[in-house]
Amino acid sequence: MQEVVDGVFELRLGVVNVHLVVTDDGVVLVDTGLPGQAAVIERSLRPLGRLRAILLSHHHPDHAGSAAALRERTGARLIAHAAEAPYLTGHFEAAEPEGRLRKFLFRRLAKVEPTKIDQLAGDGAEPIPGFTVVHTPGHTRGHLSFLLDRAGGVLFTGDAAATGKDGSLAGLDPRTIADPERAAESLTRLAEHDFDHAVFGHGRPISGGAAARFREAAITPE
Ligand SMILES: [Zn+2]
Ligand SMILES: [Zn+2]
Repeated sequence: MQEVVDGVFELRLGVVNVHLVVTDDGVVLVDTGLPGQAAVIERSLRPLGRLRAILLSHHHPDHAGSAAALRERTGARLIAHAAEAPYLTGHFEAAEPEGRLRKFLFRRLAKVEPTKIDQLAGDGAEPIPGFTVVHTPGHTRGHLSFLLDRAGGVLFTGDAAATGKDGSLAGLDPRTIADPERAAESLTRLAEHDFDHAVFGHGRPISGGAAARFREAAITPE
């Protein structure tokens, strides 16, 4: 586990990263990895304190996979956007199909245990003191990023952005994006915020000057 900035830890779980944030009132977890990864997350949590809340970027199985298990085992409050709720709670009939990979994802989603959402959060909400929600639709409709007011600002992008092997800032595989136009708009909106650091669901963190990197990416056509 890597400490990105003071009290913000990145736990790499193979294909995806989750993040643990130590606060005065317990630990906040951003995303939950794949199904079956609750135990390894709990082991990493233990020395840091009790789990207070889970912020979910979106419903994909590499981010929401262990949400049900962690919520149940720790009693932590689960926070997500309303548009992700049908997928997270298992009410797929109410969900809009999205993305070219959706058949593949749905097949894997079937293995994700449904859970309850304790608190819905939209753009500008502050569900936990110090954390501001930025609605970043595109990858999924209810995709959320989170800005933490610490160390000059830390952005948790979920799958709204990623870094490549060479450390460059990039979008996700276009086949996983439900609405590429809105995803590009969301990247532009993120670039309007100020933050020194950024962490991603996929790829290594950016430490220092992160917002400037987003501004470059937002104006450079791919
Ligand atoms: Zn995703
Ligand atoms: Zn992902």
